[in-house]
Amino acid sequence: MFVSDNLSVNKQGNLAIGGVDTVMLAKKYGTPLYVMDEDRIRRDCRIFQKSMEKYYDGQGLVCYASKAFSCKEIYRVMQSENMGIDVVSGGELYTAIKAGFDVSKACFHGNNKTNEELQMALEYGVGRIVVDNIYEMETLNRFAAEKGVSAPILLRIKPGVDAHTHNFIRTGQIDSKFGFALETGEAFDAVKKALAYENLELRGLHCHIGSQILDTQGFTAAAEVMMEFIKQLKTELDYETQDLNLGGGFGICYTEADDPIPYDEYMKDVAQVINGFCEANQIKRPFILIEPGRSIAAPAGITLYTVGSKKIIPNIRTYVSVDGGMCDNPRYILYQSAYDALVANKAGEPKTERVTIAGKCCESGDLVGENMPIQPCEPGDIIAVCATGAYNYSMASNYNRLQKPAVVFVSGGTDRVVIQRETLDDLMRNDI
Ligand SMILES: *Cc1c(COP(=O)(O)O)cnc(C)c1O
Repeated sequence: MFVSDNLSVNKQGNLAIGGVDTVMLAKKYGTPLYVMDEDRIRRDCRIFQKSMEKYYDGQGLVCYASKAFSCKEIYRVMQSENMGIDVVSGGELYTAIKAGFDVSKACFHGNNKTNEELQMALEYGVGRIVVDNIYEMETLNRFAAEKGVSAPILLRIKPGVDAHTHNFIRTGQIDSKFGFALETGEAFDAVKKALAYENLELRGLHCHIGSQILDTQGFTAAAEVMMEFIKQLKTELDYETQDLNLGGGFGICYTEADDPIPYDEYMKDVAQVINGFCEANQIKRPFILIEPGRSIAAPAGITLYTVGSKKIIPNIRTYVSVDGGMCDNPRYILYQSAYDALVANKAGEPKTERVTIAGKCCESGDLVGENMPIQPCEPGDIIAVCATGAYNYSMASNYNRLQKPAVVFVSGGTDRVVIQRETLDDLMRNDI
């Protein structure tokens, strides 16, 4: 009935998340409101970690890709779960540090890290800086030399997994702004260069083939390609790769149409490929990193809105307008992403209507979704949009000078604010 197993209908007929009544939450904290189930976040971290334990003898690290949802509290949760993290900016890194996260377990990504960001990474001892290009390699080596340190790096590789047979793969091909291409020899040259630099410690390789991937073929194909490359580096350069970071991109269930496989299947299939390859080729097994973002944050979250106007355009469509929209969830306007929605205060009733849920911004494209099946609703009802825990708050804006909503975590039946709602004065914080 629901896209996430932490959602249910309670005795009052209201939607509950992690057992907490969402209509009560909307009353208590106001709307729009992001609600995230901390217990579910922790559970999914452990599922990935257990799969690493079970299929790869724990010789790896699960890193939460924090661009999916970043704030101090999520880094505290990740620290307490012994997770690693990914960061992609000085801002994410700084937030993690301020939250007390041990950034020796962080990977720093990005195709154009600034000088300040590279220096910050060295200053705070980021465990793995994922170098994207030669310019960055040179710059990082120079900064490391100035500091008298050795920078631990991985190289971002485009595995070039056949995009024709796996057309869901978006970032692993030659025409991508990220990383070094394998096919052209660019990646091989980059390894040689990295090994020659005095103040770089090449720990290994990274690849990330895309996002919202619903099966394991792309991952096993990428793992195979990367293992072949590791073998080539060993035979031709006598270089032994310590770390192999296989990225994230594990798909989730946004609507009934999505059928992701259980998370632990990824490690099962990928570990089989790597273990088999290492045995057959007498290669030392690399330490594996994986980087789930969406799969940890998205299913744990929902967004609550209050219904305002309802506009029935005969024979065309019915617009139901809510008090948020593209400011708190730009994924529809960016990619026409599909979501499941329901009326939280009528959660037990059948979805007999189909409506277009519109946001309140001054853009016709500002929709939550079109033609969405939903319970009959009227002004004052609470609409819940499901699986919004990733790439919603982290992509939110203040367009139209709307205030960013609060984020509430629920855990063990209790609720607490982890990010406050912006005030009107917050909107002018930087105005002169
Ligand atoms: C975005 C990203 C991830 C996380 O992707 P999800 O689809 O959220 O799992 C992991 N690694 C890298 C390098 C990324 O850019």
